[in-house]
Amino acid sequence: MKTTDKPLFDSNIFIYSVNADSPFHATALDLLERYTKSGFYVTDINLIDFFQVVTDGRKTLRPFSTEQASEYIRKLVRIPEVNVLKTRSFHEILHDDGAHAEVRRFQVKHFAIYDYLIVDCMRQHDIKTIVTGNAQDFRKYPFLDVIDPFMTQSTTQGRAVAPIPYGRQSISEQDVSAVCSVLLSDFLTQGPKVPAFEQIVAEYCGARHAVAVNSATSALHIACLALGLGPGETLWTSPTTFVASANCALYCGASVDFVDIDPRTYNMSVNALEAKLVQARQSGCLPKVVVPVHLCGQPCEMQAIHTLSREYGFRIIEDASHAIGAKYQGEPLGNCRYSDITVFSFHPVKIITTGEGGMALTNDPELARLMECFRTHGITGNKAEMQPRPADEIWNYQQIRLGCNYRMTDIQAALGLSQMTRLDEFIEKRRQIAARYDTAFADLPVTTPWQHPDTCSSYHLYPIRIRQGDSPKSQRQVYDAFHSAEVNVNLHYIPVYRQPYYEAMGFAAGYCPEAEQYHKETISLPMYPSLSIEQQNSIIQTVMESIIP
Ligand SMILES: *Cc1c(COP(=O)(O)O)cnc(C)c1O
Repeated sequence: MKTTDKPLFDSNIFIYSVNADSPFHATALDLLERYTKSGFYVTDINLIDFFQVVTDGRKTLRPFSTEQASEYIRKLVRIPEVNVLKTRSFHEILHDDGAHAEVRRFQVKHFAIYDYLIVDCMRQHDIKTIVTGNAQDFRKYPFLDVIDPFMTQSTTQGRAVAPIPYGRQSISEQDVSAVCSVLLSDFLTQGPKVPAFEQIVAEYCGARHAVAVNSATSALHIACLALGLGPGETLWTSPTTFVASANCALYCGASVDFVDIDPRTYNMSVNALEAKLVQARQSGCLPKVVVPVHLCGQPCEMQAIHTLSREYGFRIIEDASHAIGAKYQGEPLGNCRYSDITVFSFHPVKIITTGEGGMALTNDPELARLMECFRTHGITGNKAEMQPRPADEIWNYQQIRLGCNYRMTDIQAALGLSQMTRLDEFIEKRRQIAARYDTAFADLPVTTPWQHPDTCSSYHLYPIRIRQGDSPKSQRQVYDAFHSAEVNVNLHYIPVYRQPYYEAMGFAAGYCPEAEQYHKETISLPMYPSLSIEQQNSIIQTVMESIIP
């Protein structure tokens, strides 16, 4: 049998094509129009799935009537270029030893059995390519070519030459329906989705407890509160970070200080930290909390920082806002092996998103309990924590601390749960983009992100450094070249203490020289999973043209 180059269309293509509200509607219509000329396959199961979905109204604002759904299918299958294939029965599959072994090998469960029947049918007919909006369900079959026509096209819809942002979320149809189903459920805020999301993230990272909140900023705040940070005490962090890593100390009435960065990783320098600790011990002002920030998604040298924490008696909060999915010494970040608490952000430019959202992970049950309490006003409904009151008074809950309202909604958690199913895919895509940048810039006078051998970055950001002296051009010139090319590059970060609010507290330019030099020489290039090869090529070209004189 000759391998056919006509693809098989999954049911979601047909579903999007009849749903004018779908962000993928136009793409699906366009695909159908093009392929009804060259021909495509569809199986009976895809048609059944289409019928079920459109008549039940799960994904469409107004469900189809039985007549409309069957008329659509009748019209479709009468097109001569559309080849409808019959799948084998489940019974036949289980009697076929080879297929049966595969069902076990690929862990085919629940609804995945329908996907398997489609895959089996494709092999019976020697069809290699499937076009689908559910790419991740088919990628586990290594012999298939899986094409997701929606992942990149959805980002540039309706614009011929769109400006390229430096970061952006990737939202799938599965994300959309996960959020919609919560809207029709009994709980909008902190219902069953929040603990389910917490559990999935904790399991993925290998931490015992996770507390979901409405932002990483809130997570940093409750982490500081749980560690008892207060007036008269100090938190140290890196100057090269978003302001939230430092502000959390000020919310608690504590003060902030900064440890300069390592010129190779741009993370907090362990040498600078140690030197500053030696001095602080002499002057009696050791920090209570240190917040290492895993800049760009590259983990800090946590083992060394942890060793220092034992010697100097400080607690550690990892600001991993950039870094869910990254690995340190081969283990997922967030397992808190070398820290008390790890914080993630789910802001749309970060690795996965919940719109706004954050999470604090810990292995310490007491810290988890405290953070849960601070998340909801400092209120508890736990009888063991409540003060005894007269038996004739009814107390459903008591406020025992001063907390905040930092709860995550079930709407956000449902989006987070759905995004988690693609986390590994996102990271893989980011690594591929980073590898292409690395290769393209290898011979240019720019410094690409150096990776510490203990780390495996999630590549939230890809900064290139245009070193003064090495490069014929300045940061400003390269920045302006991007601006004219309609590519939105960004700077990460102005040292926090240079912000007017911090300068008013007494910090001055020159305080952390490495961080200041880094800021003057670095530009973050666009980096996100749906960045297309063409977009990346045009970014690379802009860098080349702006740097080579
Ligand atoms: C984004 C970010 C935060 C804050 O995250 P939010 O979820 O937006 O509050 C904190 N620290 C760093 C390093 C960040 O990049």
